[in-house]
Amino acid sequence: MKNYIIFGPPGSGKGTLATQISELHNIKHISTGDLLRERSTQKDELGLMISGLIDNGRYVSDDTIKRVLEEEIKKHGNFILDGFPRTTTQIHMLNSLFENLPEENKPIAIILQAQMNTVLERIRSRSKIENRADDSDQILKTRMTEYLKKTQPVINHYLKFSTSIGLDGNKTKEEVFNDFQIKSDE
Ligand code: AMP
Repeated sequence: MKNYIIFGPPGSGKGTLATQISELHNIKHISTGDLLRERSTQKDELGLMISGLIDNGRYVSDDTIKRVLEEEIKKHGNFILDGFPRTTTQIHMLNSLFENLPEENKPIAIILQAQMNTVLERIRSRSKIENRADDSDQILKTRMTEYLKKTQPVINHYLKFSTSIGLDGNKTKEEVFNDFQIKSDE
């Protein structure tokens, strides 16, 4: 049974693809964005700090992620991680969580790419349904900047050191899922 980590800018369809893959392989879909949004509904100090960062498009600190993720990850055997690792420090966190995994269970990296106009269009239509504070055009710019500055180096790391599957996120969700299945069988 395989484990996966999935990367893609906001609006690339990574959450959708992660859901499809988790159903296909019957593995747990762990989204750090969802975990954080859920945690932020508790209006204590940690919850308020998390929503303050998310709503402004800024990444949450590595320590906070560690706290929220560690418990969740221990509950499940095989998984697809959506939204983690997002910084180079988080690569080390992931490695130490899975230090003792045999080579065949080391996570496979899925990398979705999408053009700015695709991403903008998708986020604009999602914002009509979900009403997330971080989906405004202005906050989206900050999220993109965070992604390029902090997450692109993480992607480069996995391209170099791990098995990876690159996908064109400009295509429809059915096409992307189909491409994934073809490429993961190769
Ligand atoms: P997402 O749903 O994956 O787009 O995540 C939404 C927001 O949650 C991001 O813009 C960040 O503020 C925060 N977030 C999610 N995962 C992480 C992470 N691994 N490290 C830091 N911040 C995160």
